Amino acid sequence: MRHGLARLLTRSARRYFVGAGQRWVFAPPAPDWSPPRIERTALYLHVPFCRNVCPYCPYTKVPYAAALVAPYTRGALAEIDRWADAIGPAEISSIYIGGGTPTLALDSVAGILARVRARFRVTGDVCIETNPADVDEAVVGRLRDAGITLVSLGVQSFRPEHLAFIGRRYEQSVAARALALLAQGGFASVNADLMFALPNQQISDITADLAHAEQCGANQITTYPLFTFPYTTVGEYLRLSDVRMPGLRVRHAHYRAINAWCAQHGYERVSVWGFKRGGVPRYSSVTRDGYIGIGPGAGSHLPDGFLLNTFDLDAWICAANAGRTTIALRMPFADAMAGWWWLYWRVYDTRIPLDELDKVLGKDAPKARRWLRAMAHIGFAVQHAGYVELTEAGAFWMHLVQNHFALRYVNTLWTHARREPWPQAVAI
Ligand code: SF4
Repeated sequence: MRHGLARLLTRSARRYFVGAGQRWVFAPPAPDWSPPRIERTALYLHVPFCRNVCPYCPYTKVPYAAALVAPYTRGALAEIDRWADAIGPAEISSIYIGGGTPTLALDSVAGILARVRARFRVTGDVCIETNPADVDEAVVGRLRDAGITLVSLGVQSFRPEHLAFIGRRYEQSVAARALALLAQGGFASVNADLMFALPNQQISDITADLAHAEQCGANQITTYPLFTFPYTTVGEYLRLSDVRMPGLRVRHAHYRAINAWCAQHGYERVSVWGFKRGGVPRYSSVTRDGYIGIGPGAGSHLPDGFLLNTFDLDAWICAANAGRTTIALRMPFADAMAGWWWLYWRVYDTRIPLDELDKVLGKDAPKARRWLRAMAHIGFAVQHAGYVELTEAGAFWMHLVQNHFALRYVNTLWTHARREPWPQAVAI
């Protein structure tokens, strides 16, 4: 009943904002479809190897095996060439390397980056996700040599009981040492990922984690709740066990405590979940206006729609190395979609520039401005000269929308994509 109501509300909202012209269906791309020429885009590289598979993790990954790295690397190089031939020698305004655990295959990453630089014009930052268990002095040097400028460490928690709950098998000191090494490594920005709203987590645990990350030298902190994707082991575990995820009130209290701590310690909010200190460049994976995705399970956001690569590593390697498309699914954009998608991510940024809004939204701009005024009216936003900024309450509710979005859309799409390498149509 509750899910039915949520689905109805979601459908009504997206119809109201984006219009009836947008079909919310991913399907295999038509045989004669090819990407448009693109002047400027970001690039996402997915490295699908992990040493241990964490029970809560929804991402595309396989257990690390050295023998898989060479065919993966050949596939990624072929995929880059295919994109370069299709869209032309575009400017790549930023590169984000995620996974999986990219630090398990750093030689491969360095080779792939070299090919990206050879085929495109790279002008922006190169960001990478790192895992505490892999970071030592040698790895820090190799990251720098590969031209990485921004790093993020998946700390998640410094407390042993929370590390155990999320399936991390190292001691808390490992993450602290890794973070300190990265902070001294000469990168432009070092981000620490921390989780909140874990079962039995207290506010004092969260503020202690934040303080620990600060002491280790993190100049950006990204906090996020555990997404309980139903198909992950944690999703099953929670259904079968007595463990209860904290409810809305506790989650809100944690979020308020994080905001208060960050404000007291000079970290300004740069997104719903992210805080950074000083003038360092912002580390961010998801708010780019457009990107091409390399690797199994990687998504692409083009001017004319979303694409999703096959999630199956073998199928992806086979297709890429045979010169065939690795794209399993595509959702074309109706005219209005690109503008509303831009606004969704600016709201996620918690700061919406109004001049740009008028340009990007076009005829829908007055409708968007009306909604921003309504948000300001109920205390979720504040209007400044030239931009609108979300308040803490607005950011919290945006965080719930994101949670809902992640669970509903991403779960539906990824469940199908994980079930078969080349799914048929998926309605979200
Ligand atoms: S959370 Fe990170 S390390 Fe754990 S399985 Fe997922 S991608 Fe791998």
